[in-house]
Formats: sequence, structure tokens, C-alpha cells
Amino acid sequence: MSVTIDTQLDLARGLYIDGAWQEASDGGTTTVRCPADGREVAVVASSTVQDAERAIASARAAFDDGPWRRLTDIERGAVMLRVADLLERDKAAYARAEALDTGKRLVEAEYDMDDIAACFRYYGKVAGLDAGRVIDTGRADAISRVVYEPLGVCSLIAPWNYPLLQAAWKVAPALVAGNSFVLKPSELTPSTSILLMETLAEAGVPAGVANLITGSGSKVGGPLSSDPRVDLVSLTGSLATGQTIMAAAAETVKRVAFELGGKNPNVVFADADWDAAVDNALTAVFLHSGQVCSAGARLVVEETIAERFVAEVVRRAKKIRMGGPFDSDAETGPLISARHRDQVHAYVQAGIAEGAELLCGGYIPDDGPLADGFFYPPTVLGNCRSGMSVLREESFGPVLTVETFRTEAEAVAIANDTEYGLAGAVWTSDASKAQRVAGALRHGTVWINDYHPYVPQAEWGGFGKSGIGRELGQAGLAEYREAKHIWQNIAPAPSGWFGSAPGE
Ligand code: NAD
Repeated sequence: MSVTIDTQLDLARGLYIDGAWQEASDGGTTTVRCPADGREVAVVASSTVQDAERAIASARAAFDDGPWRRLTDIERGAVMLRVADLLERDKAAYARAEALDTGKRLVEAEYDMDDIAACFRYYGKVAGLDAGRVIDTGRADAISRVVYEPLGVCSLIAPWNYPLLQAAWKVAPALVAGNSFVLKPSELTPSTSILLMETLAEAGVPAGVANLITGSGSKVGGPLSSDPRVDLVSLTGSLATGQTIMAAAAETVKRVAFELGGKNPNVVFADADWDAAVDNALTAVFLHSGQVCSAGARLVVEETIAERFVAEVVRRAKKIRMGGPFDSDAETGPLISARHRDQVHAYVQAGIAEGAELLCGGYIPDDGPLADGFFYPPTVLGNCRSGMSVLREESFGPVLTVETFRTEAEAVAIANDTEYGLAGAVWTSDASKAQRVAGALRHGTVWINDYHPYVPQAEWGGFGKSGIGRELGQAGLAEYREAKHIWQNIAPAPSGWFGSAPGE
């Protein structure tokens, strides 16, 4: 069975609990609409608290009594490799569903699907490579080793910008480590998570191990974050949601893993390769209309080249073509919702009110085909100074702020002047300077003379308020494991700690 869908997605589903599709307990549904033109994409179940509790119970029972955690790492890894194969087989259907939900260009959704398959393939291949280690205790009478075990039940909560990619970064390591989970995608973009449940079942993940609830986070977030049967909550989302979940998880001392926002600097020195730096300054911030947690939304450029550099960025930003997912001329798509677009516009207006200079963009298109969707043009704000809200807050839209510096130390200070710390870049032809600045940046990913690439082999995550823990790489697997130390005395003897001998 392969995953197939038509323009109107066949997704009258939503709750996948204990291996079966179900309706919400109150019969509630949500209509998913394409943000590029408002067309109806799918009607999916809108979960209730009772549904979330049933999904948690299913995951708990599958973990406690089911076969999944008793398989070897290598056996679970083989299932992940099958998942990767099936995702590749069904790439077209997945990409189409993702493009319709998010409004992103089909070609970008296709890139995402390649990355998702690569993530499952990576965790499939590393399974069994690190099963623990033998410890030298310094004693001849003891054998000691550290082994890894799954945590248990994981609540996996994903955002709308890269819906299945962000889910995959959680699902693949959680599964390969032997956990069961309840996945909750964003209410705005549930379609590919629905498809994933069918793919996981086809690959051999047993019923109850993978559960899905669709619907609003504020409605079902309570049990996902506080239920005592849940061992870990992993969120990719906003800082505010992370703070709510952390407070809810505190009572039962759950583990939390957070990938939150970013306010990412793109530092350009005067000696940078001009064409590459200009071009990537655009990609850094305007890719997916800025709805990227690692978007290079703060251009930090050396004063001597700033005027010319910014003029060129603005000239090219004005030419970026917006359009829907299947518009072959489009270079970028809409924002996810009217609410989000209005928030981005309010953010730009606030910046202008604080003294920023609007260099391009900054308006809501109100005629032509773009008026049917939630589009916002690439926007550049000059004359930005420390303390302004546009330099502190994440817009999560296509908005670039410009700051200038005179010295290397000043560049580093400006780049680190944020409570976030997710990603950043440095552009220079001086290799020593590049290494010095990369070393000084307090961000989880630093690119030198590049922007945006990542690989599943390398950890992803943030310093400061950008998150807790890491996804991808070895640390991304460690998030889903307990380490257990097993000590065996091979020559048992009285400890002699207390005075009287045994039998006295
Ligand atoms: P969001 O926090 O509004 O929603 C994220 C998820 O949390 C959704 O599934 C939502 O339904 C759920 N949620 C909302 N309230 C909840 C609650 N009280 N309890 C439990 N779950 C709840 O974020 P968003 O708008 O979907 O995504 C945008 C944010 O995500 C941005 O801040 C962006 O920077 C961040 N993000 C970070 C990364 C990263 O890797 N660091 C990647 C992508 C997005």
C-alpha cells in the first residue's frame, strides 16, 4: 500500500491511537486551508483532552507490554531504513501534502522530503553502533558497564514551518531508541504527520508505539506535558509555548527537550566574497519567507561596505517573486496564516515607529492573486540600533534588519546581543578571523562563508533561550535514552564497613 492523495486530500482522519484511525471523542474537526489561496486542503479530527489521554495510555501500554523496546537496536534500525525507503517511494504524495498545508513551493517541499528520508536513514544506520561501554573500575573483582535504555513515552510536539521535518527529527531517534510516542503536529499543518502514521505501520512499527493526535496545542497540551505516564516532552515551537510546557512538566519532573526561536546574526566583513555574501544574505533571511528558526534575520555588516552592500540586497529583495506552491515562477511563498502575517506587519510597523528606516517591502498586498493568500513581501529595515524591538524579537517572517560594525570585537558583541542563540554566520576571506569569530559566537550552529546547510549527522540546537538539548547527531539520540550503570562484583565478600563480622 502506498500513500496517495489528490488535490483535495483524502485526510478525513487525525487520531491514530493503538494502530487505528479514530474520530475525536466529541466528533470535532478542523479545516486545513492552503495559506497561498485559502483553498480547503483537508478536514481532520480536532482532539480533545480525553483523546490525548487515550493516546498516552496506548503509548504507555505499548511501551510497558509490547515488543518494540525488546527488539535490538539493529532490528529497530532496520525498520527505520524501511521507513526511509517508503518515504522515498511516496515522496510525491508527501511533498504535495506538505506544499498544500504550508503554502511553500512544491520544489522546497520535495527538498524537505529528501531531508526527512535522510534523517530516518541516518538513525537507521547508527542503530547498534553505540550500545554502551565497559568501565575500568580499577578493581579486579568488579565488572562494570554503562548501557542505554529507552525513556518510555514521549510527547512529540511539532511546528508548522517544516511540519514533517521537525517531527522526523524527534520520531526517528525516539523510535530507534525503543520509545513509544504521541505526536502532535501543528493544527495548521497536520497532513504529512497523518501520512507518516501509515508509513510507520507499513514499515513494521507495532500498533500503539506510534500515536497521533491532531488539533490545537492549547487544548491538548495539558496532558501531553503533565500526564504522569509521559516521560519526556520534546517541543519545536515558540519560546512562549516552551515556557508553558516547562512549567506543566515540572510537577512530574519530566525531561524536556526544546527547539525554540532564534534571532540569528549574519556577520559580513568587508573582505568577504561579495557575490556569495550578497546572494546568501538574501537566502539566509528570505528562504521560506523567513519562516525558518535559523533565518539570518539580522544583517551585521562592516561599516565600510554597508551602504553598497545593503543597496544591493534591497535591489534584489525587491525582485523576489512570491506565489503559490505550484506557481513555477514563484521564488517564495506565503506566510502561514492571516494572523501571522498581521503580526509580522505589526512588528515592521513597530520598528519604523522606533526609528528604523523602511528600505523595501513593509506592506500587505491587497490586490491581484496575492491578495487571496497571506503574502508579505521581502522587507529590509535600515538604521537599526541596539534595544529596538525588531532586534530583540523574532518576526518569523521575511524581515531583515541592518546593523553595522567597525571592529571584529564590535561585530561579535552585536552578534551575541540576543537572549536567543540558535544559529549565525560569518563571511570573510580571512581564515583566522573566521575561526576566531565562529569560536566567539554564542550560537548552536555557526556557518563560515555559507548559510543554512545542515546534515543529520551534526547536532542542531540552541544556546540561551533557543532551547534545551540537541536534535540530530549522537546527542539527538541521547535525548531519548536513559544511561544505566550496571556493576557486578565477581568475588562477593563482606564489605567490612561496620564493626561486627557476619554471624556475630
Ligand atoms: P508554537 O509554539 O505556536 O506551536 C508549536 C507547537 O506547539 C504546535 O503543535 C502547537 O499546537 C503546540 N502548542 C501550542 N501551545 C501549546 C501548549 N500550551 N502545550 C503544548 N503544545 C502547545 O510555534 P509555531 O508557531 O508552530 O512555530 C514557530 C516557532 O517555532 C518559532 O518561534 C520558531 O523559531 C520555532 N521553531 C524552532 C525551530 C528550531 O529548530 N529551533 C524549528 C522550527 C521552528
